[in-house]
Amino acid sequence: MRLLDRIRANLAVRNALRLGKVFHIEIGLDYSWFIVFALVTWTLSANYFPDIYPSWPRFYPSLGEGIYWIVGLVTSLLFFASVLAHELGHSVVALRTGLPVQSITLFIFGGVARIGREPTRPRQELLIAIAGPAVSALLGLLFWALSASWPNPRSPLAALSEWLSYTNFALALFNLIPGFPLDGGRVLRAILWSIGGNLVRATRIASWIGRGVAYLFILGGLLLALLDGDWLSGIWLAFIGWFLDNAASMSYQQLALREMLSSRVTREVLQSDLPQVRRDLTLDRFIQEVLLKTGRRSFPVMDNGRPLGIISLHHVKTIPKASWATTTVEAAMTPLERTIQVGPEDTLARVLEQMTVDGINQVLVIQDEKLLGLISREQLLSFIQTRAELGM
Ligand SMILES: [Zn+2]
Repeated sequence: MRLLDRIRANLAVRNALRLGKVFHIEIGLDYSWFIVFALVTWTLSANYFPDIYPSWPRFYPSLGEGIYWIVGLVTSLLFFASVLAHELGHSVVALRTGLPVQSITLFIFGGVARIGREPTRPRQELLIAIAGPAVSALLGLLFWALSASWPNPRSPLAALSEWLSYTNFALALFNLIPGFPLDGGRVLRAILWSIGGNLVRATRIASWIGRGVAYLFILGGLLLALLDGDWLSGIWLAFIGWFLDNAASMSYQQLALREMLSSRVTREVLQSDLPQVRRDLTLDRFIQEVLLKTGRRSFPVMDNGRPLGIISLHHVKTIPKASWATTTVEAAMTPLERTIQVGPEDTLARVLEQMTVDGINQVLVIQDEKLLGLISREQLLSFIQTRAELGM
């Protein structure tokens, strides 16, 4: 399905560079990470440290201005190590509660841990969500203690520890903003989930709030750029907002569809009371006696209780009107060997995937060479639509 592809493409953060494995989790960098790494290093080395600690080059005369770049680079690396630790926090708890974690990727907006399955209980979701900010807050405390323990509070090591302390606290707080899919939004989702008992509905509400937060980011970024003249921070904030908005709506759609389709099997939706269409029926009689009477679009063609193929409105339309009286259903249908067949216990997620991959509109549900029924694309989509409207 195109929607699913779009979702995948939007959320695809690849491990362009593999750094290694921690707890069997592959750690990697997306190319976009280098942009933010350069930006953070540059901001620290060219602006932040020189502004606050103008005396450093005098204490390290052999390094001169280079001291800012060395401290900036080390600080920046430790910052990304902190982001990684945050994601490891999520991942370790996910692993411990039984969810597989495939990879952690650092990219332009931070880090993302790819957890193989959605949590199955609100408590599990809550613990996984809170673990990341908890690690960040702990690191904040650790760096704060470190910064206070250096004898000279204005030394590079104290400065570095202080910045990392603030930044880790900021990271914890930022992630606790209750906008899904930020960690705070996941906490909110877990709470809504435990109250209402419905993951998809909880996700919908949490992602609405997430999108609201995202728009606030965009608005805040624009105001910062236009009123304050701080274009870099403004555009950055707006970009984060844009990314969050995308992530919020995509995560919801993806979850809703996947949850629903993978928890349903074909047996539950197949049409089993289909009229038996005979192979020797002419198309004009098929149209009059079957197609127009039932309002359905596709039917199995049967011969002595055995399925021969599928005939549909689509097939009829490919035959010129003048030939309808002389063409049989068998001549116009898709023969059995060219149809897609699924079993009664196959999930609807698989059916949709088959339809997408093969570009077809209906599948036959067959068990032990016996036809149980048929599932059409319209039927599947209306099943999705109906359930979505009922909020199920
Ligand atoms: Zn997090």
